Amino acid sequence: MKGAILIISGPSGCGKSSLLKEVFKNEKNIYFSISTTTRKKRAGEKEGIDYFFIDKNEFNEGVDNGLFLEWAKVHGNYYGTSLVSVIKALKKGNLVIFDIDVQGQKSIKEKFSAISTSLFISTQDQKTLRARLEKRGTDGKKAIEKRLKNALSEMTNIKKFDYLLINDDFETTLENLLTIVKGARLKNKLYNIDDFLVEWID
Ligand code: 5GP
Repeated sequence: MKGAILIISGPSGCGKSSLLKEVFKNEKNIYFSISTTTRKKRAGEKEGIDYFFIDKNEFNEGVDNGLFLEWAKVHGNYYGTSLVSVIKALKKGNLVIFDIDVQGQKSIKEKFSAISTSLFISTQDQKTLRARLEKRGTDGKKAIEKRLKNALSEMTNIKKFDYLLINDDFETTLENLLTIVKGARLKNKLYNIDDFLVEWID
């Protein structure tokens, strides 16, 4: 078995982080790709756990030096996925999980189509998303409006994903997410079919 990829996208506030925390408790051999960002650290966020926080100059240097597998500008900040750590994790046979936006999904899917599964997580409606962002209290009014506007354009990409989870009930969504995590490891292309056939015939 080889490593596999699960790409998760969805508007900020749809519940991705809370769901992923539960996945890490339940599943082994998972590597969560920690992105690098120029966004300011939110209260409670930790360097190297939530993100690697750097400034715009450092980020540009990283882009120039080919450090990112993909990068994108989201809500006015830059976000990038580290190339080296992802390749290492894949070589070890891990399921690499990305929490990235729709631009990142397109790019990773193009580069690793055979081993990738993609999932979009949404709230049941826009009203719920707004309420969650306001309750979270980590963004100001202006930032919330920007995130809602961005959410609308992200939602128009849902058809490009393999799976859609509408997170109206946390426990049900988690159960379905764990099923998708298992499925992502069972893709046909992750097996060496020729070797399997030779052994099967023997
Ligand atoms: P937040 O600022 O709420 O942590 O993240 C904002 C958005 O950036 C989310 O949709 C998240 O999935 C996306 N994002 C985080 N890291 C990356 C990355 O490395 N690449 C891309 N393309 N998007 C990312």
